[in-house]
Amino acid sequence: MEQSPVMRICISCKKTYDRKYLLKITKDHKQGIMLHKGMGRSAYICKSKKCYSDSKIKKKLQKALKTFLESEFIEIFEKEISSYNYYPNKGI
Ligand SMILES: [Zn+2]
Repeated sequence: MEQSPVMRICISCKKTYDRKYLLKITKDHKQGIMLHKGMGRSAYICKSKKCYSDSKIKKKLQKALKTFLESEFIEIFEKEISSYNYYPNKGI
């Protein structure tokens, strides 16, 4: 028996993807904002450059998670994203 993939929606492009191809950001009840783990409200972003480099991604994440995101989190988020793909001309 093959397990059907768990589908989630990217908060940026609103397209549905298999969860394993998405970056999961969770507002953990105890530990705050976490990547890939944690229990609580979660948001998903696909790994397309258009989405993770969206200038409004922070706002969209804050809305989806109903929380305020520290700039430290955005730095961690960007580091995580850059580990998926290496774009020499990313312009960051
Ligand atoms: Zn997307």
